[in-house]
Amino acid sequence: MQQARFRFYAELNDFLPRSRRQADVAYPFRGAPAVKDAVEALGVPHTEVEVILVNGVSVPFDHPLRDGDRVGVFPVFETLEVTPRVRLRPPPPRPVRFALDVHLGRLARQLRLFGFDAAYRNDWSDEQLAELAPQERRIVLTRDRGLLMRRAVTHGYYVRATQPDVQLIEVMRRFGLSGSLRPLTRCLVCNGVLVEVAVDQVGAEDLPADVRADPSRLVRCGACRRVYWDGSHVRRLRALVAKVEGQLHANEGRGGGNEAGE
Ligand SMILES: [Zn+2]
Repeated sequence: MQQARFRFYAELNDFLPRSRRQADVAYPFRGAPAVKDAVEALGVPHTEVEVILVNGVSVPFDHPLRDGDRVGVFPVFETLEVTPRVRLRPPPPRPVRFALDVHLGRLARQLRLFGFDAAYRNDWSDEQLAELAPQERRIVLTRDRGLLMRRAVTHGYYVRATQPDVQLIEVMRRFGLSGSLRPLTRCLVCNGVLVEVAVDQVGAEDLPADVRADPSRLVRCGACRRVYWDGSHVRRLRALVAKVEGQLHANEGRGGGNEAGE
């Protein structure tokens, strides 16, 4: 049996059993497995990893392990001066687009509230999601690390928090979204883009009197045709935006959330 020694840095330790955190981990193997397979066998989804150093040299996912190798595995935001540095995946889509697994419906709605493109269906299988996400260049959000370990998934993030409000802040911090909030631009129900619409195209009898009197902020979903307007709902939304922005500011620089478990 051959053996390599692994060290996982920063929040990648969330995926390790407590006894293995912040410590060298021995990995016994036969043959010459790809370093990515070893990383995932130790519990860390490849989507969480930004740089892998084998004996101090940056390597791709398919780099074969050899006996006695020392492997350092680094997450996305760990700053690290390595040259040359091997890119493990293409850059993430800009602006960011997400695809959420079936358990994150409330987070999908929250993201849409703030104008982010968040594909979600409560009847998607893991397989469908893993296929659709790369096709549409979407980042998979999930609390299922098995899903992130699928080969087809190139961009993904394991959401640590369990509360939707906290998840929202975690995701916004992780992807640097605090400067790109665009409330009331995306349909909460179907993720379609909202476009301005005239009162006579909507059916004025369905609208509250104050919206009929000042229809300047009337919008409709281009996909499912639901109508939204700038009323009390939007005022609540703006209050929520202010609260989230406040929390983002307060949390700046702090690591976060719940652990991935053992
Ligand atoms: Zn819609």
